[in-house]
Amino acid sequence: MAEIDYDALVHSLSSRRFLPQVFDTAQEAKAAAIAIIGNKSVGIGGSATVRDMQLAEALQANGNAVYWHWLVAKEAKQAARDKALTADVYMCSTNALTTDGRLVNIDGTGNRAAGLIYGPHEVVVILGKNKIVSGLDEAIERIKRATCPTNARRLGLDTPCAKTDKCYDCRTTARMCNVTFILEAPTRPVKAFHVLIVKEDLGL
Ligand code: SF4
Repeated sequence: MAEIDYDALVHSLSSRRFLPQVFDTAQEAKAAAIAIIGNKSVGIGGSATVRDMQLAEALQANGNAVYWHWLVAKEAKQAARDKALTADVYMCSTNALTTDGRLVNIDGTGNRAAGLIYGPHEVVVILGKNKIVSGLDEAIERIKRATCPTNARRLGLDTPCAKTDKCYDCRTTARMCNVTFILEAPTRPVKAFHVLIVKEDLGL
């Protein structure tokens, strides 16, 4: 994206019943997320953005119950993913946000899909400007090019993209691209669906 029109982006998201806010810095967005969450319990989806902002640690220090599979040992991860879906608030990033206000994601496990679509009735999505794309084609292209190969390497998965930085629509058992979903508006019953946009690059 050459130039991002944040006013237009906020208008696009608001027209779809999302609750957008724009911040100059990640620190400001972090404070806003903590204020939105208050003393509620939080489930977190896999997110380098949330990790890098150290949001889970800040919430735990405030006494919030935090359910995040990235914080626990391998044998406890599935239970943490399940618990996250029943928290008061679900928090994660998005793989891409189109300028007309659609959130585009690809999941391997489907926990983010469940959390964002049919999970807690309050959602906080945080993203950096590097996730903003012009449309659906660019969203998918960005995810396959910038997100999946890096995630595959982080997880030690034996996928073609991990070795070549290219997607081969693989049929490997390690395939991460199992669910592709586009949130065009908050699902019903209508969620309080916050979208916090940061004018910095964050996450993958
Ligand atoms: S389909 Fe396979 S090769 Fe393509 S991005 Fe997903 S995991 Fe990588």
